[in-house]
Amino acid sequence: MCALLVGGRALAAPLPTRVILLGTKGGPKPSPSRAPACVAIVIEGTIYLVDCPNGVARQIVMAGLSLDRLGQLFITHNHSDHVLDVGSLLVLAWGSGLNSPVGIHGPPPLRKIVGHSLAASRYDIAVRMREEGRPALLPLIHVSEQARGGPVYRDAKVTVSSVAVDHYSVKQAFAYRFDTPARSIVISGDTTYSEALVDFTRGADLLIHEAMYLDAVVELAGGSASLQDHLLRSHSTTEQVGLVAARAGVKKLVLSHLVPAFPWITDEMWLAGVRKHFTGEAVVGRDLQEV
Ligand SMILES: [Zn+2]
Ligand SMILES: [Zn+2]
Repeated sequence: MCALLVGGRALAAPLPTRVILLGTKGGPKPSPSRAPACVAIVIEGTIYLVDCPNGVARQIVMAGLSLDRLGQLFITHNHSDHVLDVGSLLVLAWGSGLNSPVGIHGPPPLRKIVGHSLAASRYDIAVRMREEGRPALLPLIHVSEQARGGPVYRDAKVTVSSVAVDHYSVKQAFAYRFDTPARSIVISGDTTYSEALVDFTRGADLLIHEAMYLDAVVELAGGSASLQDHLLRSHSTTEQVGLVAARAGVKKLVLSHLVPAFPWITDEMWLAGVRKHFTGEAVVGRDLQEV
């Protein structure tokens, strides 16, 4: 075990806090090039997960993490690309040996979403309890709905807080901040430029922010002025992301939840807008990348 000597006393070094991008694309449409955006923060093997999109269980395994070490889930908002697999993740983690409590935090109607998703697996859960001797799943699941931003969760390893961001028609959408002795990490969730997010992010080591590539949005909208307008009011352009990172004074910025996730948009194209404002370290996220 690492130890520091301070004033003659041995102090344990902060536990390493790993941050892994399980997926990096935004929006509900499956893509062959990227998995949907989702972040795992791993401290001493325990997984703190932000969002549960389609395929998240497999991405956790692909990242070399153990599904049975799922600790807490944090849902930024209830669009399908953030919550669709919450029930299947719980069932698959349980089928992989999970036997410790899991907390799920996020805006309403999250309790209903989790309840209905687990109800869809009632048959399978009963069979595995009977035939494999698995413990009951439902008593392990604890949903905590958050109607507004503020303190969310705390244990010996991490303190988690949230702030309401501006995701246009979604009235309850949050960013989350994880403060550990080793690092402070902010995950923006889906948002257009948000001054509240700037304040919330101030002094963080790492900001993982959603990003939209404006020129390609026109192509994505297929000439629909209303869709284009909706995207612009709901998400952040790369220039806006650079502005948030610069104003908040973060050490490192990672772009994720890329909209649109077209393979022809190069890292340089993504970062050109960011660099108009932010001069610190900035990277375009890749699936399964540790940041
Ligand atoms: Zn989204
Ligand atoms: Zn959304």
